[in-house]
Amino acid sequence: MSEIRRSGGEYVDSGLTDADGKSIQKWQRSKVEVKCCGEWFHCGGFTNTCEYCGADYNMSGQQLASRSQWGEDTGESVDDILSVDTDYASYDGE
Ligand SMILES: [Zn+2]
Repeated sequence: MSEIRRSGGEYVDSGLTDADGKSIQKWQRSKVEVKCCGEWFHCGGFTNTCEYCGADYNMSGQQLASRSQWGEDTGESVDDILSVDTDYASYDGE
């Protein structure tokens, strides 16, 4: 059983300054981390794989079924699922 932790979104210093010399803050999205094999790692993508045991986690930190089971319910291939990573970045809310 894995542990999940979230840190809330917050404004952080962007390292830039505006025309008045004031530092510009930028919004940093909340992030989800999962503890697997004794190490915390960041779930920043659609699928996130533990580098030690190969377990896959989704963006919410929920462990996914092993890849051999992927697609049985949804009809998607593993390639479809992995390619979502790049599609997600340009997702425009459609
Ligand atoms: Zn692991």
